[in-house]
Amino acid sequence: MVKPSFAPRKGGDVKPQREKVRTFCRMCFGRCGLLVTVEGERVIKVEGDPESPLSKGELCPKGAALPQILYHPDRLRYPQRREGERGKGEWVSISWDEALTTIAQRLNSFKRDFGPESVVIGLGDPKGLELAFAQRFASAFGTPNVATPGHICHMPRDLASAFTFGSPCLGDNQNLPSCIVVWGSNMLQTHDASITRSVLRSALNNGAKLIVIDPQKTALASRAELWIKPRPGSDGSLALGVMKVMIEENLCDENFVANWTTGFDRLREHIKNYPLDVVEEITWVPREQIAEAARLYAQIKPATIQWGNALDHTSNSFQTCRAISILRAISGNVDIPGGDIMPSPIPITRPGHFMLLREFPRKLEKMIGGEFKLAARSAFIPRQSVIKAILEAEPYPVKAALLIGTNPLLTYPNAKETYDALMKLEFLVVSELFMTPTAELADIVLPAATNFEFDEVGPYPSLYLLAYPKIVEPPGECWSDMRMINELAKRVGLEEYFWADERDALDLILQPTGLSFEEFKKEGILQAERKYRKYEESGFRTPSGKVEIYSQQLEELGYSPLPIYNEPPETPYSSPELAREYPLVLTNAKEPCFCHSAHRNIPRLRRIAPEPRAQLNPETAARLGLKDGDWVYIETKRGRIRQRLSLNGELDPRVVVVAFGWWFPEKGASQLYGWAEANVNILTESAPPYEPALGSVNLRGILCKVSKA
Ligand code: SF4
Repeated sequence: MVKPSFAPRKGGDVKPQREKVRTFCRMCFGRCGLLVTVEGERVIKVEGDPESPLSKGELCPKGAALPQILYHPDRLRYPQRREGERGKGEWVSISWDEALTTIAQRLNSFKRDFGPESVVIGLGDPKGLELAFAQRFASAFGTPNVATPGHICHMPRDLASAFTFGSPCLGDNQNLPSCIVVWGSNMLQTHDASITRSVLRSALNNGAKLIVIDPQKTALASRAELWIKPRPGSDGSLALGVMKVMIEENLCDENFVANWTTGFDRLREHIKNYPLDVVEEITWVPREQIAEAARLYAQIKPATIQWGNALDHTSNSFQTCRAISILRAISGNVDIPGGDIMPSPIPITRPGHFMLLREFPRKLEKMIGGEFKLAARSAFIPRQSVIKAILEAEPYPVKAALLIGTNPLLTYPNAKETYDALMKLEFLVVSELFMTPTAELADIVLPAATNFEFDEVGPYPSLYLLAYPKIVEPPGECWSDMRMINELAKRVGLEEYFWADERDALDLILQPTGLSFEEFKKEGILQAERKYRKYEESGFRTPSGKVEIYSQQLEELGYSPLPIYNEPPETPYSSPELAREYPLVLTNAKEPCFCHSAHRNIPRLRRIAPEPRAQLNPETAARLGLKDGDWVYIETKRGRIRQRLSLNGELDPRVVVVAFGWWFPEKGASQLYGWAEANVNILTESAPPYEPALGSVNLRGILCKVSKA
């Protein structure tokens, strides 16, 4: 047994029979530290690393299943070219040379005939450097169209913090909070929070008060002092209600508000537009609970708000996150030990520089979805805008897409529309680990390498950087996405912006640290120095130097300078007519054993959740003549899907929780893996209204009905 180490395994050395290598998981934002047991050339076991500062030994079922993922017999091993019709499952293996030559020729011909913007690059959840490489490629190639999940994942929260504080705002992992609000995050199961689970557990064991805001009674909600179950999608209204109580009961931190914020008086006036009886009615949260939450949060310090992905999923996303950011400020919990802190940036190459955004500034007028100014300024476009552009050839025709680690048929809203758009594309390339419903529609599929199979750093951009050393060879001819993009760039004539070897980019990112990648591998992690109350020395990094409750910047961009809530369409309050036919309110949840739409083909994980399950209150089920275990249809005005019914007495009787991301690899290519049978995005809408700054769509809180299948 070799002592766990970040040190690289030297090529050519005689390897010990068995060794443990320390690294990190790159499958989700948890970035858990791992101890990987390697025997010969094979990973045989993955355990949580108790010494990891990020996860302290935690490991979810997906991390433990990594050996099954790596050595799954269905891993794509060679580039494939489609032979027959789209979606018929007829493929031939080709060389990388042929694949890249074909892709380069097609992309260059679209660029010549229709402009570079006719080519779109689409990405999924960023894992390592594939987003940075794809952005660099897009800049140099000339397309402003990089579609990411940013508008429904992280960017509403990140940008709300940026406009309010001038920097990101996260929970403190070094000092324990005395009060924790977990809002729209099932953080014990799907890691999307900024404090680690071990900090959460320590704080609770230390007696911290816990408030959980979630329509579902999660494991964490069971431990909460106060569990609030709002109507799905109404969190923005609830945040304004909590704010109203804090202001009207004088629960704010007067010193901090007076010295370090701008616009509080305007907020005090503005909040009068949100009477508590209306908030109570539309959120379904009794006003006593709203007041209790406000008092607990405001009066126990230090307090942190851990917000989750659910808040990104409505047309109120950004304004909801602005409201919560302001709660953090007026409660006086900003940048204090155990509160919500402003981490300093780490000294690495700035992402915008790496992505060549200065050399090739994105032309907003050429960008699909350029009207979403905050998305455009962050160099991404909302995904539904791409789909509409493909279908309607507006603002111009889109001819080709390069999709990297993303499965739009399952993850984009309004899946039928997405299917039509993908079928209409003249040329589609997908880079993936396995065949997926989306990959089956491609012209060329590229085999991607994954965890442990190549040298990388990540996440990037981020507030910390991790080393992911190569531990084993990938199977067949799998390549990392950064290698694929680097080599493709050379084929399309962009070699001056890329590298002889893609790993040279790692040194560029690390350049300001003075470390090479080989040296950084021994460190493993780069984190900023922790300092509290930095604003007392240098102010906040906003134009005013203070926390901007009233945002002049947003006003100048044409967005509300104070947080607002607009009732989305298709709710019981905005569409009472529709609610007569579709009387239930839909939301969705991810199972802890799957990442988004991935992993349904991994036996160890599928055993944990063999079927998609829709949850309903027993009272509602009885009224509809349904019992636990029945197959049921869940239907909106766009279509219906089928999932297995699971009764849940803790759910509001008006709510349905549907499992997210389901398809059935076992059904095979001939049925396109049953992509539409249980797919929640058959039910969701891609039409306006969108969140005006970012383009977020309404994925939660829409009207539906349930019946026996
Ligand atoms: S997938 Fe699991 S093991 Fe991997 S980072 Fe996320 S929580 Fe950690």
